[in-house]
Amino acid sequence: MSENKVALITGASRGIGRACAIELAKAGYDVAISYAGNDEAANKTIEDLKSFGAKAKAYKFNVADKEACEKAANEVLTDFGRIDVLVNNAGITRDGLFMRMSGENWEAVINTNLNSAFYMTSPIIKTMVKQRSGCIVNMSSISGLMGNAGQANYSTAKAGLVGFTKSLAKELGSRNIRVNAIAPGFIQTDMTKDLDTEKITEHIPLKRLGQPEDIAKTVKFLAEDAPYITAQVIGVDGGLVI
Ligand code: NAP
Repeated sequence: MSENKVALITGASRGIGRACAIELAKAGYDVAISYAGNDEAANKTIEDLKSFGAKAKAYKFNVADKEACEKAANEVLTDFGRIDVLVNNAGITRDGLFMRMSGENWEAVINTNLNSAFYMTSPIIKTMVKQRSGCIVNMSSISGLMGNAGQANYSTAKAGLVGFTKSLAKELGSRNIRVNAIAPGFIQTDMTKDLDTEKITEHIPLKRLGQPEDIAKTVKFLAEDAPYITAQVIGVDGGLVI
């Protein structure tokens, strides 16, 4: 049973999730991270989290698999005893023009980015209700707000997370559970490594791509310093969506 507050962050071996895990460990949280298969990255993140004094453990499972999510959530609850912050962050892209989009690529993205939030939140929400407190952050995207050519699957999943966020916030506010979404712009991670960053930067008022830490600081703010903020979609995009 953790004496510290506990955060569970999906897709936290690398990129944005990893930065969120580190930011929360620095703030005194014990941290459970999930990942899909990259053992080396997950082990490195766990080592780094422990260097901040956090209890930390990694869980390898597919967030698109309902039963695996339920099993993992229960393991985390057994290992840590509570969950104060859930960040539904794991995500993938399978970009392509809609005319040529396969059912496989549609379903992979919807299952991994959207259904995963349902699969992870369901087994954890009962614990948060019992605790009478909780903070859920869903990682949406500017693509879910604006749409994006070549990303019909991804934009749909990320827009779905916005509806999920607002509905849960309305249902759970009376139990002191806050539910918010973050809509990152272009953040420098493996997911964006093949993009033409020079061209993109021209359109960003702050004239730079975001760093994973820019998102992590917002997650920490929502977890620690935002007791009256719920049902919001917070853009962290350098001013790209105005
Ligand atoms: P990333 O660097 O590609 O990292 C993805 C993470 O998710 C990894 O930890 C990966 O685990 C995990 N993951 C992927 N598929 C999974 C699955 N089926 N089951 C469990 N874990 C899985 O991505 P990122 O850029 O940090 O993105 C994180 C989130 O932010 C995503 O939801 C993404 O859509 C969203 N986002 C990103 C940007 C951006 O510009 N980067 C912008 C807007 C929104 P392994 O290491 O084991 O593969």
